[in-house]
Amino acid sequence: MAKPISDVAKITTRPAASKAGLPCPKCGALIELTLENLLVRRNFTCLTPQCRTTLTLDATASSEALSVIRKIRTNAIDEPARGRPFR
Ligand SMILES: [Zn+2]
Repeated sequence: MAKPISDVAKITTRPAASKAGLPCPKCGALIELTLENLLVRRNFTCLTPQCRTTLTLDATASSEALSVIRKIRTNAIDEPARGRPFR
């Protein structure tokens, strides 16, 4: 059961932690979106065992998503040596 991510604005960026993700629509846990996953895959599964909601990135929203990714990547590049390995 995949839900399309149509509202890319909900993608939260956390430059300080070099993490980005979407709040799970079901349980509210942060579904971490890695740059690699965003670029290669379009599906993200909630890590909460009882939930396992799968989000599918909407193709129509992907251009917006890519601009978000670039922002994240810029932040990651800007802070290379903070002792926080980027995942
Ligand atoms: Zn969930």
